[in-house]
Amino acid sequence: MKTFEELGVAANIRKAIEEMGYENPMPVQEEVIPYLLGEISDIIALAQTGTGKTAAFGLPVLQKIEVKENVPQALILCPTRELCLQIAGDLADYSKYIDNLRVLPVYGGSSIESQIKSLKRGVQIIVATPGRLIDLINRKTVDLKSIKYVVLDEADEMLNMGFTESIDEILSKVPDERIMLLFSATMPKEIAKITRKYMQSPKEITIGRKNEGSSNVKHVYYMVHAKDKYLALKRIADYYPNIYGIIFCRTRRETQEIADKLIQDGYNADSLHGDLSQAQRDYVMQKFRIHNIQLLVATDVAARGLDVDSLTHIINYGLPDDIESYTHRSGRTGRAGKTGTSISIVHVKEKGKIKSIEKIINKTFEQGIIPSGEAICEKQLFNLVDRIEKVKVNEDEISNLLPSVYRKLDWLEKEDIIKRVVALEFNRLIDYYSNADEIETPSDRFSRSDDKSFPRRKDRERADRSAGGARSAERGYSRLFINVGRTDNVNPASLMGLINDFVPEKVSIGRIDIMQNFSFFEVPERDAQKVINSMSRQEQNGRRISVEVAQGGSGERSGTRNHDWGNSSGSSRFERGQKRSSDSKPKSSRPSDKGHRKGRKPKFS
Ligand code: AMP
Repeated sequence: MKTFEELGVAANIRKAIEEMGYENPMPVQEEVIPYLLGEISDIIALAQTGTGKTAAFGLPVLQKIEVKENVPQALILCPTRELCLQIAGDLADYSKYIDNLRVLPVYGGSSIESQIKSLKRGVQIIVATPGRLIDLINRKTVDLKSIKYVVLDEADEMLNMGFTESIDEILSKVPDERIMLLFSATMPKEIAKITRKYMQSPKEITIGRKNEGSSNVKHVYYMVHAKDKYLALKRIADYYPNIYGIIFCRTRRETQEIADKLIQDGYNADSLHGDLSQAQRDYVMQKFRIHNIQLLVATDVAARGLDVDSLTHIINYGLPDDIESYTHRSGRTGRAGKTGTSISIVHVKEKGKIKSIEKIINKTFEQGIIPSGEAICEKQLFNLVDRIEKVKVNEDEISNLLPSVYRKLDWLEKEDIIKRVVALEFNRLIDYYSNADEIETPSDRFSRSDDKSFPRRKDRERADRSAGGARSAERGYSRLFINVGRTDNVNPASLMGLINDFVPEKVSIGRIDIMQNFSFFEVPERDAQKVINSMSRQEQNGRRISVEVAQGGSGERSGTRNHDWGNSSGSSRFERGQKRSSDSKPKSSRPSDKGHRKGRKPKFS
C-alpha cells in the first residue's frame, strides 16, 4: 500500500487530511489519485458509496486548481442537496491549507440570490445538483467555459432521478477538452451511453467487482406472508437490540405508516420522505446521524445523500423494483471497514427477485428464520445484562442518594433485586411475546422451477405422497429439510454424523425422518440458522448439500390431520448421537416440497 505522499498528494493537502484522520489511501484513492495527477484522461470508476471516492477525485482536482484564476475550473455534479453539501464540505476541509480556494455548493431549496452573489465574487469549484445549475445557467449567472474538470458523482442515481436531459444540457456548455470523471455504484446501460457520448477512451477503474455489493455486507431474507410483514419487522428489530439502521419502503405513504406504527409501538424510529419539508428532513437526518434515532424509515430518494458510515443493518421492507436500488440500499451498510447486514422481508412471490439479485451482486442470500418470542426475550435479556455490566456510573452524582436507596432495598436479596431490574425492562416484551403467535414461514414450493436440483412438480408430488407428508416441528424446534435420503444410503445415525461433521458447535437433534430422496430433522429454533448456514453448500462425496427450513417447519405443532408416519425411520430425540426417548406424535401432515438432485447417488455412511 502506498502513502498519500507516494501517490503525489501535495504537502498542504496532506496536512489537512492527516488532521482529518486519513492515514492511508483507500483503494479507490490509490487508483484514481496518481492517474489524475499524472497522465490525465477521462475516468470511469465503479465504486460503491462509502469507498472514499470524494477524496479520490477531490484531492487531485484541488491540487490542479489555479487559485490565482478566479473562475470556475471544476464542476462536480451530484444527485442530492445533502450529497452536494457533503462534497463541498469535504473539499473545504481538504483545502484548509490552500489559500484563496473557494468551493461553492449550488443546490435547490435554498436562496438562489446568495448563490448568485457568491458566483459573482468568484469561485474555482462548483458542486451542484443538476436542476439548480440549469436554473443558474438560464439566468446567465454561471459561465462554464473555463471548466477543466467535470465529475459526475453517483451518476446512476442522477439518471434514476431523471436528470439525463439536464446532464446533457450542462455538458453541452462545458469545453470539449475538459477531463471527465464518472463515479457510479452500478453500471446500467444508460451510464454506458453517457460514457460513449461524452468521454474519450476513459480509463475504467473497478473497486470490487462490477455491480457487486460490498463484501462486508451479509444478505439475508425472511420470507413471510404479506400480512405478517410488519410483525416480522418488529421481531427483527427486537432481536437486534443495538440495531442502527434504515428501513427502506417503496412509497412515502408506506414510509410514514410504518414509522408511525413503530413509534406507537415504542420504537426509537422516525420517517424521512419527500412529503416532509426540507427543514423537517434536515432535522430528522441530524437526529439519526447523532444516534438519537435508531431506526430511520425512508424512501430511496429521501435517503440519498444521507452519509452515515456506521449502520449495522439496512432493512428492505419489501424488495425494490430495480436491482440497482437494492445495491444502493445494501451499500449503505458494511462501510468503512465495518460489517453490516442487508435484510429483506419478502413474500413468496418475490423469491424470483432474490435469485436475480443474487446473480447480479454475485452473492448468495441466507434465508433467515423469524426469531421466536423466546429467542428475542433471551437476546434482549443478555443485552440488558451487558448494559448493566458496562454502564458508566457517575459516582459523584449518585453517591449522596445511594445510602437511602440501599436502606430502601435492604430487605431484598441480591437475586431479587436483579430479577426486579430485569422485569422492569422486560415486562412489555415478555407480555407481548407470551401472547404472540409465531410467524409462519410460507412455503415457496413449486417456485424454484429454475433450479435444476429441484425435481419437477409431478415428481415432487409423487415423492410427497409416498412420504405421507412432513409434519410440523415440536414446540421450540425447527424442522429442517435436507436433500439426501435413503437413496443416498442415509440413515438417522449417518445423518447425525453428517450434521456433526459440518456444524462446529454442539446441537441437540430432535426427530429425524428419512425419506426416499430427502430427509427432515429437527433442531432447536435458536440453532436452526446456524445449522443451515454451516451445512448448506457444503459438499459430500461430490454432492452439494442443501438444508432449508421445511414447510410448516417451526414452532408449535399444528394441523388436524393425523397420519401414520409409515415411511419414516428414526423418530426419537437425539443428543448428538445419544438416543433419548421421544414424546412427539405427528399431527400436521402438510407435505414438504423439497426433492433431490437427480442422477448421482452419493453414499453417506
Ligand atoms: P466517501 O465514499 O467519499 O463518502 O467516503 C466515505 C468515508 O470514508 C467518509 O467518512 C470519509 O471521510 C472517509 N474517508 C475517505 N478517505 C479516507 C481515508 N483515506 N482514510 C480514512 N477515512 C477516509
